[in-house]
Amino acid sequence: MAEIIDGKQISAQIKEELKQEVAELSAQGRECCLAVIQVGNDPASTVYVGNKKKACAYIGITSQAYELPEETTEEELLSLIEKLNQDKTVHGILCQLPLPVHINEDRVIAAISPKKDVDGFHPQNVGALVIGQKGFVSCTPAGIIQLLKRSRIEISGKHCVIIGRSNIVGKPMALLMLRENATVTVCHSRTEGLADICKSADILIVAIGKPRYIGAEYIKEGAVVIDVGIHRDENNKLCGDVKYEEAASAASFITPVPGGVGPMTIAMLMHNCVEAMKLYS
Ligand code: NAD
Repeated sequence: MAEIIDGKQISAQIKEELKQEVAELSAQGRECCLAVIQVGNDPASTVYVGNKKKACAYIGITSQAYELPEETTEEELLSLIEKLNQDKTVHGILCQLPLPVHINEDRVIAAISPKKDVDGFHPQNVGALVIGQKGFVSCTPAGIIQLLKRSRIEISGKHCVIIGRSNIVGKPMALLMLRENATVTVCHSRTEGLADICKSADILIVAIGKPRYIGAEYIKEGAVVIDVGIHRDENNKLCGDVKYEEAASAASFITPVPGGVGPMTIAMLMHNCVEAMKLYS
């Protein structure tokens, strides 16, 4: 039976470390501030934004909330971002996605100063990751690296298979695993022979976006399984992309859902925010 990688505990540890660091910076008169923008009132976004504000309060980061109506125009949103870019008291800017369809997400992401882009979505930060330069890294994949390292799982030289090639998870994950010297294979919706490829993975990272899709036939005995998916099943229970029980009987380590990757995303957002202040203010 696999050992559980406890994302709740590891994220709590990271938040504790950050809380201490923020207190020390605050004693020197340096206050960290994150601006959180939400356009419209998508219920899932409201939950995510609420959790981010709570994490800020816990760590000692000031959060400024901008709750804009659904009919906000792209120009209005861009002008708010520009104002926040110029505001020296704001260190991080987060614009909760998805945005209403009349707003171009790429334009909004590109408008956020790369120095305040704590989500790590700006093309300059993505480019920095590609060529191995410093920059902000997308929070979910960065959190997965922390889960692996803090669980003392060897990455270097291992075969890592990632299912999913999204800009937010799959692609940055592949780049981070390369940076950690893994041999990386990226699979996606057009991949042929998915199960065989997955079965050759020492570390299998699943970000396929389909509830309980990956079962034992995809998992090598003793592999590390990281489940990025978050869904509600027919009983309104949270579940991942992986069939947990089956996978846990083959794997050596596994992340549960909830309590695995999910809590790490916010912890890494907080980390990026503190970094933004330390580096650029
Ligand atoms: P996405 O829908 O953008 O990407 C899914 C990827 O899976 C695509 O690249 C697609 O090519 C691939 N795919 C789809 N069907 C496939 C198939 N049959 N075989 C192989 N590949 C296939 O999703 P995303 O934004 O990358 O998120 C993935 C999952 O992770 C979702 O469940 C999402 O809710 C979750 N997620 C969780 C967190 C977190 O904090 N825990 C953060 C982001 C996303």
